[in-house]
Amino acid sequence: MSLRDLLLGRIATTGPLTVADYMADCLLHPTLGYYTTRDPLGAKGDFVTAPEISQMFGEMLGLCLAQSWMDQGRPDPFALVELGPGRGTLMADMLRVGRAVPGFVEAARIHLVEASPALRAVQGRTLTGHSPTWHQTVDDLPDLPTFLVANEFLDALPIRQYVRDGAAWRERLVTVQDGALTFALAPPMPVPELAHHDVPDGTMVERCPALPGVVQSIAGRIEQGGVALIIDYGHWRSQGDTLQALRDHTPEDPLTTPGGADLTAHVDFEAVARASGPAQASAMTRQGVFLERLGITARAQALARGLTGDALAAHVAAHRRLTHPAEMGDLFKVIALAPPGAPLPPGVDAMGDLT
Ligand code: SAH
Repeated sequence: MSLRDLLLGRIATTGPLTVADYMADCLLHPTLGYYTTRDPLGAKGDFVTAPEISQMFGEMLGLCLAQSWMDQGRPDPFALVELGPGRGTLMADMLRVGRAVPGFVEAARIHLVEASPALRAVQGRTLTGHSPTWHQTVDDLPDLPTFLVANEFLDALPIRQYVRDGAAWRERLVTVQDGALTFALAPPMPVPELAHHDVPDGTMVERCPALPGVVQSIAGRIEQGGVALIIDYGHWRSQGDTLQALRDHTPEDPLTTPGGADLTAHVDFEAVARASGPAQASAMTRQGVFLERLGITARAQALARGLTGDALAAHVAAHRRLTHPAEMGDLFKVIALAPPGAPLPPGVDAMGDLT
């Protein structure tokens, strides 16, 4: 049975789905979900992420975490954690560059939070020799000082969408019309979680119900020691419909191919900062600025010396893609968490600075 047939049957029996229920099944249904069944990353996949564009991304993040590890007195052992590690490329690049910092790799225990069996297998191959431990959720992570990265993880967490209607909100639902999946709006209801959204009638806003729990769980660990670098595309306070489906590098209607396309939504960084609780949150910092401050251009120049022709052109394009405001540099943002009173990781603005 296809996921579409399964969802049509479910809607016929139990009624329309929230966008979050739809997104959760599309991405992570145990046998028919997008991530559970495939490796979607890279030029031959459906989308490309920063670590797959260039090794420089993982190198900058690895050095950033290693600096924070030194700032916090080189805890040994510590958990080197990645949420949603994709192919394991980012972790492999961080470990390679981490060898430049004496004791860092030796003290690191690798812990990966990954829901997809297909991607766990790929990560195991990429990280041969590093003996990672996999977990289903952040709550299962060990009780150790935690140095964590999450790149394009929060954008895969299911969102609910609401349209303002006077003092109330109409939730966007997935239903069936003439045998096809279609969007509809529920009757107006109060939604206390959206009270801070002062937007005109008819405006859509999104809420990611799982996000606060994930961030609080990380923040609780970081309060005891460590740092987190959360990187994703999004803005401060979500507004508008950002649900997006990508298949074969091309956007499509999110209802066209359930389970066959990547579904993501922009991350609301205000919601991340609000949930960071006991930890200290940095300001939301643009990825391009962050990578420049960490020295990506010097690294790009050093790598360029060994390259000519097409390889050199591809390398220059990769640097531009990661940092330029018209490419990923402005849309992607970084927010860091650190223990109260500890130095923030290099590269991010302190809360209260311009973002
Ligand atoms: N960070 C990687 C991959 C991003 S794709 C990169 O930058 O290349 C999103 C990743 O998160 C995939 O590995 C996917 O399987 C995983 N993922 C998505 N939702 C998840 C969830 N709810 N729990 C755990 N892993 C999840």
